[in-house]
Amino acid sequence: MSRFLSPKYAKLEAYTPGEQPRDKQYIKLNTNESPYPPSPQVLDALTRKDVEDLRLYSDPEGAALREKLAKLYGVEPGNVFLSNGSDDILNFAFMAFANDGAVFPGLTYSFYPVFADLHGVAYDTVPLKEDFSVDVDGMKGTGKFTVLANPNAPTGLALPLENVEEIIASNPDQVVVIDEAYVDFGAESAASLVDKYENLLVVMTYSKSRSMAGARLGFGLASRPIIQDLEKIKYSTNPYNVNRLTLKLGEAAVDSDEYFRENARKIMDTREKTAAALKELGFTMPDSKTNFLFVKREGLDGGVLYQKLKDRGVLIRHFSDPRIAQYNRVTIGTPEEMAAFLEGVKEIMKEEGLA
Ligand code: PMP
Repeated sequence: MSRFLSPKYAKLEAYTPGEQPRDKQYIKLNTNESPYPPSPQVLDALTRKDVEDLRLYSDPEGAALREKLAKLYGVEPGNVFLSNGSDDILNFAFMAFANDGAVFPGLTYSFYPVFADLHGVAYDTVPLKEDFSVDVDGMKGTGKFTVLANPNAPTGLALPLENVEEIIASNPDQVVVIDEAYVDFGAESAASLVDKYENLLVVMTYSKSRSMAGARLGFGLASRPIIQDLEKIKYSTNPYNVNRLTLKLGEAAVDSDEYFRENARKIMDTREKTAAALKELGFTMPDSKTNFLFVKREGLDGGVLYQKLKDRGVLIRHFSDPRIAQYNRVTIGTPEEMAAFLEGVKEIMKEEGLA
């Protein structure tokens, strides 16, 4: 820390992104990226002229992409907000709407408490139930800015839309954010409720199902006044928050929507097969509706499994939080990648005297 840092940030503990090591080629199952490339339309979308046009600023309104997304989700372009990854919207939302404090589940996306701390927002957490599911009653009527990842991370569990709607409806005087980063892998989206609840903000990303984590594109769907508030924050921080190339790629992805939905189906199929194989080996896990599994094996230390797989060139995500230190989060890759992962797990179980 330099002596120049504002004291209000002195104690801020920054978010830790998953490892992106460069020392060797890993089978990368640690940051919930897609193992498949974006659609052929996305691959062919950029021309030399697009790169030449980088001399020009991007459209701060992202009008063309907003129109396409609005059509896709059955809302008006004025109900769509574009951002530099969905973290960008979450940051703006904590800045804009958490004046009375924030509430989120006790185990969830670890960036939420960081955003809260960054903006000096006091927050309460609602402990998960024994089976890792979100305590719906605990999330209702909080009287505070409320954030729910559905499906939740790192557990992978999803709530039915009915429960999500109860949470939104119970808190009419506060914004309720439904973070749907993983919704395309088998959960129900709250996008259909945007016209019904003026306090709802649905947050989505191109980073997972649409295979575009590196493009940094997220979007929010909400009532017009909420979008206007987010626009106010954006125009007060970074008006061109989505670059020209990403806007164009984002449009091509909407034009080829079926392509990524097919990929998501493939990933769900691989997920179910991987889950079954792990259960055969004695692993337990919540029922995932995401592109990852949150797994544990009695008698096999979570940190040991992580390190031994890493030594074999397979990277998964281990969390130091003592409540979940026996678990690992494993992103679903291609069938071949998952076969290599399972092979490694079996070898390690032998080494540890478990098979
Ligand atoms: N929400 C959740 C629940 C996530 O797991 C992630 C990925 N780290 C994000 C939001 C943010 O993703 P991005 O900024 O790439 O859209």
